[in-house]
Amino acid sequence: MTGLIETARRLDALGFMPSKSGNVSIRIEGGFRITPSGLPYAALTEADLVDLGLDGRVLAGARRPSSEWRLHAEVYAARPEAAAIVHTHSPRATALSCARRGLPPFHYMIALAGGDDIRCAAYATFGTAELALSAIPALEGRRACLLANHGVVALGTSLAAAETLAREVENLAGEYLDLLAARLEPVLLTPEEMVAVTAQFGGYGRLR
Ligand code: 13P
Ligand code: ZN
Repeated sequence: MTGLIETARRLDALGFMPSKSGNVSIRIEGGFRITPSGLPYAALTEADLVDLGLDGRVLAGARRPSSEWRLHAEVYAARPEAAAIVHTHSPRATALSCARRGLPPFHYMIALAGGDDIRCAAYATFGTAELALSAIPALEGRRACLLANHGVVALGTSLAAAETLAREVENLAGEYLDLLAARLEPVLLTPEEMVAVTAQFGGYGRLR
């Protein structure tokens, strides 16, 4: 068992994968293993997962791979530390992505994504090489980004870390939207304050 199906089902149960959106992958020898395209998570078995090379060559599996396989392949190619990738359409983060806005450092947990903000990538059609390439600069120095008018991508050094981050991005987006809806002006943390947060996380076991 890879944990991919359990992860996808957990995220689906949270409402992060509406209308069978989203996809999940782990890096394997020579490529990655990814959820199939369009199949309801409730019905998935391990036999439905697809192994692909980074060039999209099918290594194993009979199903059509996720339409976002290029997104996963480009991230694995660009980010050697990525062991897993989670893509969701979680509702609050997706709402923010529709304004093509990322998250500024309004809360210290922004640092979980690796830096002082969580960017929103340039818009491109789902499932295209253009979308895959748009995510790479948005992920520079980060482990998560929003995809404009679409959703969220999170990577991790483990599947659990990628899932935790995707969940935290949704949480942060919800808090940020609540602030905006209340017409409150967030007080942003300074770069120095974010450096201190990162240093504090360095000694904080739970998130590593
Ligand atoms: P797949 O079902 O092909 O993985 O597509 C879902 C999705 O989120 C497309 O962006
Ligand atoms: Zn998607």
